[in-house]
Amino acid sequence: MRNQCLLTIAFVGVMGGLPIAAQKAPAPSDGKLRIIAFGAHPDDCDSRAGGTAAKYAALGHHVKFVSVTNGDAGHQSQGGGALAMRRRQEAREAGRRIGIEYETLDNHDAELLPTLEVRHQIIRKIREWNADVVMGPRTNDYHPDHRYTGVLIQDAAYMVVVPNVCPDTPALRRNPVFLYFQDGFQRPNPFRPDIAVAIDDVIEKKISMLDAHTSQMYEWLPWVAGTLASVPKDPEARRDWLRKSRFGRPLAEPVREALRKWYGAQADAVRHAEAFEVCEYGRRPSEQDLRALFPFFP
Ligand SMILES: [Zn+2]
Repeated sequence: MRNQCLLTIAFVGVMGGLPIAAQKAPAPSDGKLRIIAFGAHPDDCDSRAGGTAAKYAALGHHVKFVSVTNGDAGHQSQGGGALAMRRRQEAREAGRRIGIEYETLDNHDAELLPTLEVRHQIIRKIREWNADVVMGPRTNDYHPDHRYTGVLIQDAAYMVVVPNVCPDTPALRRNPVFLYFQDGFQRPNPFRPDIAVAIDDVIEKKISMLDAHTSQMYEWLPWVAGTLASVPKDPEARRDWLRKSRFGRPLAEPVREALRKWYGAQADAVRHAEAFEVCEYGRRPSEQDLRALFPFFP
């Protein structure tokens, strides 16, 4: 990470003297939506928004997942650069399986802090993607990396439109809508599902995406949970195990309520959904805006 920091600082110093034309311009718009989601670790975005991302991608919209850390602490017997490389490849493969881009930043796992340097990394990613929607975790999650990813995204909201902040990457002219991923934490306030997306039609794509994170789904997370011995060795059997262990629970009632708002009578048949809460710091969308940003509702 330190090498990258030095490079970034040197790069910014040089860029300060370059004419506008030489600066990195945001991706041109082709009329499709542009979504960027940030997780602390490679696999976080997948479990919170993988189904929604698959639905956007199937309609030709542009989705990018970013892992803010490289995941180099997330294993019981591996670590450091070798684990970071393994997880970067897993994330890339997960993105490939649903047709989205997946980038892993080189900040250390379990050491993330909401510094100005990381805030600037995030501001640049949002601008380069020319994002309409930015997603990330709330700031009251159990894991410090998740909490600080939430803080970093809140800190980037609004700053992405300020031209004097990170002037090497042109500011957005319109603030994106910032959304929080669903979580179960209750304090200081529970998650509020403003939007719920039915993902039954893409649940196998989401499982396929998670299945790409071998080091997590079949090694690290079962080791932490004490269930490593129950993970089958056969690839098909372990995918079934993943499906049963992660997708068997009924939907929370507030999410079911949100589904009723957006899907009407169709909501009661939905088995799998992903929900999002509108963050107060980005653009404040109307219901009509949300229907345009989530082109999935009947
Ligand atoms: Zn995580």
